[in-house]
Amino acid sequence: MPVINENGTPQESAAPQGHIYDMIIVGGGPGGYTAALYAARAGLDAVVLERMAAGGQMALTEQVDNYPGFDEGVDGFTLGEKMRRGAERFGVPTRMEEVTSLALAGPVKRVETGGGPLLGRTVVLSTGATPRKLELPGEEELAGQGVHYCAACDGMFYRGKTVAVVGGGNSAAADALLLSRVCAKVYLIHRRDSLRAERAYHAPLMAADNVEFCWNSVVAELIHGEGFQGLRLRDVNTGAERTVDCAGVFVSIGRKPASGLAEGQLALDRSGYITADESTRTEIPGVYAVGDVRTKALRQIVTAAADGAVVSGGEPEFEACERTAGSLREFAEKFAEGTV
Ligand SMILES: Cc1cc2nc3c(=O)[nH]c(=O)nc-3n(C[C@H](O)[C@H](O)[C@H](O)COP(=O)(O)OP(=O)(O)OC[C@H]3O[C@@H](n4cnc5c(N)ncnc54)[C@H](O)[C@@H]3O)c2cc1C
Repeated sequence: MPVINENGTPQESAAPQGHIYDMIIVGGGPGGYTAALYAARAGLDAVVLERMAAGGQMALTEQVDNYPGFDEGVDGFTLGEKMRRGAERFGVPTRMEEVTSLALAGPVKRVETGGGPLLGRTVVLSTGATPRKLELPGEEELAGQGVHYCAACDGMFYRGKTVAVVGGGNSAAADALLLSRVCAKVYLIHRRDSLRAERAYHAPLMAADNVEFCWNSVVAELIHGEGFQGLRLRDVNTGAERTVDCAGVFVSIGRKPASGLAEGQLALDRSGYITADESTRTEIPGVYAVGDVRTKALRQIVTAAADGAVVSGGEPEFEACERTAGSLREFAEKFAEGTV
């Protein structure tokens, strides 16, 4: 089946069967495209596989103000397209295909896609993560327009205003603290009677005189008409309801990493993120985890991009790949013959 580009034209660069890429990058967000750019500039033969649109989560946001180099900010979709074109300029194509499974062991990795299998000496997993939603009516339409999932990204839009944060873990606590420095007032809404967040967050939050805790409370409704207007909260013990007037709400109830492809092959942490450190290496040689999908403290465009830059700096792995190039060629021939 031919691979079709986003604009509906057939893709010219579908690799011949048995071709072994130096690097197959799964996911075309900022992590994946930075890995692609650095790989190409290191002389590696790479390809990006993306199932939806270049830019990943970033493409969903209208205004990115914290990625350096854009003095007036930039919309996330444009930035994603720029990243895709930047990788293409150095010869890395994007194939719009969903990866359905991976066989990561051994010197040649096999990547199954809707358009057929691909082989690579290395695989970069940059599949990202998605914020968990409240799953309430209106949430989708209000996303970015009153309902937000990242205080570091969108908090500045609410300077001097009243906002709410939903959640009780470390990210909710960190978001509430950050917003308390920018906003007039912050409601912290949590379904339990104490925070799950590490103790380090407790004292500064309790000390902030513009943070009001709404314990044992869940959001029952996103009040909206002509735009977002506030929240209706329900007490989980008594069922009593109250409304909270606020200009925006930051939902900080966790993220869901897109790490399903790695399950059973790579170690995942308690929350399902791939356990790779700053080197981005995983326990399987030649397999890297980049950006939001790996265990890390801060999930942002700039940190995903930083991960992508690190991958092809793992020189020993790429030299080791060179040394096994003979056996890889043999494997490729057998693959083309259909004997493996
Ligand atoms: C609404 C919103 C606003 C944000 N605003 C900002 C901001 O202003 N500033 C900031 O720094 N950060 C912001 N972030 C966070 C930032 O977008 C992420 O941290 C960053 O995009 C992570 O990059 P990534 O490359 O790791 O993954 P992602 O951007 O998530 O990209 C992963 C890509 O992998 C693809 N993929 C997944 N599985 C497969 C598969 N099986 N086959 C093929 N492709 C696959 C996905 O389609 C996706 O395109 C925002 C996030 C959201 C949700």
